[in-house]
Amino acid sequence: MSKRIVIALGGNALGKNLSEQMTAVRQTAKAIADLVEDGHEVVLSHGNGPQVGMIQNAFAAYERAEPKAERMPLSVCVAMSQGYIGYDLQNALREELRNRGIQKDVATVLTQVEVSPDDPAFYHPSKPIGGFMTEEEAKQLAAEKGFTVAEDAGRGWRQVVASPKPAAIVELGAVRALARAGQVVIACGGGGIPVKAEGNHLKGVPAVIDKDFASALLAKSLDADVLIILTAVEKVAIRYGKPDAEWLSHMNAAEARRYIAEGQFAPGSMLPKVEAALDFAESGAGRYALITLLEKARDGIDGKTGTVVEG
Ligand code: ADP
Ligand code: MG
Repeated sequence: MSKRIVIALGGNALGKNLSEQMTAVRQTAKAIADLVEDGHEVVLSHGNGPQVGMIQNAFAAYERAEPKAERMPLSVCVAMSQGYIGYDLQNALREELRNRGIQKDVATVLTQVEVSPDDPAFYHPSKPIGGFMTEEEAKQLAAEKGFTVAEDAGRGWRQVVASPKPAAIVELGAVRALARAGQVVIACGGGGIPVKAEGNHLKGVPAVIDKDFASALLAKSLDADVLIILTAVEKVAIRYGKPDAEWLSHMNAAEARRYIAEGQFAPGSMLPKVEAALDFAESGAGRYALITLLEKARDGIDGKTGTVVEG
């Protein structure tokens, strides 16, 4: 049966640098094309950690060489990363579809995601971004620009930003129109460009929206049937990394909540995925989420593997 699917791509779908990305998107395109070939309506979102880091580092080098250069805002770096990733991904997918005789268009939508200025995350900036600095450089930046800085796991000082929840997808109408017209759409890259509304003006904010939460909002907003989170593990485990780890094929909402409370999922990696999966699965009748390995997308949607989260 044909389904409307939102797919969140993790770091392994894109690689960590220019050449890795060029290779990785070919494999990713195959996994996505399998689902398109099976008749599903597919909208893609993706992470951007290494890519936005690369863009920020490039500007940091430029700013060191050119003292009059303005500091490039994080929101603009996210916009650039959406363009860079979308460019590679849409072309790889277009080529793979054409190789299979499928004449579908693929489009990337530059996506802004509104966050609430009252989100409690703004009081606890915790997400390290950008390059490493000495303590002196970091404190100078904090004093000059009002940035929050923190020591990152013994490796040096970095800027830290808030990771607020996504509240609304600004370009949702464009994403929906393209998807309903039969195009494969790439949207909400890197969790979306974080903005806050000031009347009619949308102002970029220095924040990072978790791509798994943004993908759940995208799936809800598009009235999708399934949210698939493709990552580096085939299934979600409890007692992960321990000798008695148990790989789960299925979690209902009560089980998911209990495992979350028990701390079974690592914050910053598996926890946001299970939370996003649960959020989507509980948002409407018949909706479910699937967490699996990139290469197993088709087997997962066919019910053969992965971890299904149901509301
Ligand atoms: P992505 O780039 O796809 O978002 P992450 O590295 O953020 O990937 O999250 C996936 C990783 O979460 C897995 O590769 C695994 O190492 C880790 N992980 C943490 N806890 C668990 C768990 N309970 N079950 C499975 N994987 C887990
Ligand atoms: Mg992640």
